[in-house]
Amino acid sequence: MTEDKTAFYINGAWVAPHASTRMEVENPATEETVAQIALADAEDVDAAVAAAHAAFPAWSTTTPAQRIAVLQRILQVTRDRYEDLARAITTEMGAPISMSRSDQAGVAIGHLEGFLEAMEDFDWEEVLPNGDRVVKEAAGVCALITPWNWPMNQIVLKVLPALAAGCTCVLKPSELTPLSAMVYAEILHEAGVPPGVFNLVNGTGPEAGTRLTRHRDVRLVSFTGSTRAGVAISQGAADSVKRVALELGGKSPNLVFADCAADLEQRVRDSVAEVMLNTGQSCDAPTRMIVESSVYDQVCAIAADAIAGTKLGDPTQEGDHIGPLASGIQWQRVQDFISAGIEEGARLLAGGEGLPDGPTCGHFARPTLFADVTPQMTIWQEEIFGPVLCLTPFSDEADAIRLANDTEYGLAAYVQTGDRDRAERLSRALRAGMVHFNGQGMGWGSPFGGYGLSGKGREGGKYGIEEFLEVKAVLLPEGWR
Ligand code: NAD
Repeated sequence: MTEDKTAFYINGAWVAPHASTRMEVENPATEETVAQIALADAEDVDAAVAAAHAAFPAWSTTTPAQRIAVLQRILQVTRDRYEDLARAITTEMGAPISMSRSDQAGVAIGHLEGFLEAMEDFDWEEVLPNGDRVVKEAAGVCALITPWNWPMNQIVLKVLPALAAGCTCVLKPSELTPLSAMVYAEILHEAGVPPGVFNLVNGTGPEAGTRLTRHRDVRLVSFTGSTRAGVAISQGAADSVKRVALELGGKSPNLVFADCAADLEQRVRDSVAEVMLNTGQSCDAPTRMIVESSVYDQVCAIAADAIAGTKLGDPTQEGDHIGPLASGIQWQRVQDFISAGIEEGARLLAGGEGLPDGPTCGHFARPTLFADVTPQMTIWQEEIFGPVLCLTPFSDEADAIRLANDTEYGLAAYVQTGDRDRAERLSRALRAGMVHFNGQGMGWGSPFGGYGLSGKGREGGKYGIEEFLEVKAVLLPEGWR
């Protein structure tokens, strides 16, 4: 059944769109249409921005304690609607339901706890040693534009710090994954977020996205998505000197040193699993495995075995299998990269082009492993965003660092080593926003973001809230301080 999801959430109510253009939302595992959304036009976007603009004076002058109370209610309702979020994500982008629950929907709670913790001792005001006062204030109306791969993660990393900072906002989620965003709008409504503080329109990047990012009443754009769109958004936002925060793509290195000896097999298997998670559609996936030459053949064999053992399956079934790619377009992109890898001479150790055995429909791709990938190859340089891992050998630590940093991106870096001193050296030498050692994940509230073409700005916890604040110096004469 095709659900009618054409309404937008503007000024505290679900309203009929002005636009007449519609788009079908596809379940990528079944290729069936599950819902129809409206694609916002200029009038729809303007109405949402007007609501956010009208709500700004009251919301931006609430106290931090009032905003904490609202965030706590959001936490409660999110817990109540958790299963609805997980199911919507599974339907719209094919994440297997167990992983949708634990990771895709789980982040809506985890990040919120991180923001609440940051709010508890956040410095909204300080007095400098020179006696001047500095206050932090909400930046204004924000345009929040998000991608389809971790739909809820990106939404909560923008909406929650915007609200925490006292900003009002308009969210435009990916047109491919509008369903979880609409559940989230219901959650915010039920939690009592005042009318106009949060608004949602669906629409395409070129139309609704561009209108939002160029709108004179929008003061800040927070965007997650491709570097291509991030550049276009920055250019569009420049005319009205908006602040722009960008979380873009990645091509993260994973350095595997022989000194993790006893742990080598586990470290490699966990690394493969991390690439395969979400069917490879994670911006910070460790997709370039750079391996010390003395253990290179051994690592190739372990990785090939792990890739061959990666199960694919129906996302509605519980289990640790992976699902389809999120769309037919993404499937074709991944195929083109696999073809390029073969044509450019990388050694194919597992997987390859075409459909995998098993599923009879859906955008499933074969988990794929390439060895002997060189820095000149397309699959070394460009983000594939699918279940594809590239391997290459290094000779010594300096060579490993050179290969790791040989990218225009700089989102995450991963290191597998048994040497604590080496870890210290590498934590400084690697040009990336996050460096993970031996599979260590990130705690809620730590800053997420990248160097270079991976973007600018940080999300999560206090760093995430600060992105949505202006800094004002208040200069009082001495007797008034
Ligand atoms: P995309 O850039 O095509 O789209 C992302 C969002 O931007 C969508 O909502 C889209 O409608 C909108 N958009 C597209 N063009 C626009 C324009 N010119 N103006 C305004 N809005 C526009 O990206 P995608 O294919 O949805 O997502 C995949 C990309 O996102 C990958 O490159 C991935 O690495 C990146 N990503 C980055 C992070 C991170 O935190 N660094 C997290 C997740 C995804």
